[in-house]
Amino acid sequence: MKNALAERVANTVRNIPDFPKPGIQFKDITPVLQDGSLFRSITHYFAERVVDREITKIVGIESRGFIFGAALAHELGIGLTLIRKPNKLPFEKIGVDYELEYGTDRVEMHADGVGNGERVLLIDDLLATGGTAAAACDLLNQAGAEIVEVAFLIELGFLEGRNKLEGQHVHSLWNIE
Ligand code: AMP
Repeated sequence: MKNALAERVANTVRNIPDFPKPGIQFKDITPVLQDGSLFRSITHYFAERVVDREITKIVGIESRGFIFGAALAHELGIGLTLIRKPNKLPFEKIGVDYELEYGTDRVEMHADGVGNGERVLLIDDLLATGGTAAAACDLLNQAGAEIVEVAFLIELGFLEGRNKLEGQHVHSLWNIE
């Protein structure tokens, strides 16, 4: 079910029950970041998957997607674009609203964050219901980008979030089924 790297991730991620609210088991990735060898292996793993795919931009989702995205962009020697929560970006921007269990949320990107026809890899730490990543994909499609892969360190497979990402190539290092 898991390769050796996924096993290491599974053994290192810390499970925090009832955070940030009752019933949620939070996957705390900070111990992964604190393990330099593991962090580097993860970066190499994601990079190797796409090194021949002519990716022109890594796109990271706030906030833990920035961490893995920045390492990956550095490894591949390409740029990083940020998808952020509302009202954080200072320049001209585009945005997408999406549904939460209660209410709505929004993701934004600078209008010049990704050029028309750019080949991008979208990355975040964790795929849960898929709402955030689906909204990020909408944003990238609006910008005219070609999404080569949507990558996650962890996927809560039992939530079936990848159903919201139909048509995308979704890859997670550690899928919790
Ligand atoms: P979703 O839109 O439901 O797929 O949620 C994905 C976003 O919420 C990601 O940016 C995750 O970092 C965060 N997230 C959702 N559920 C969890 C969880 N159980 N543990 C850690 N982060 C989570």
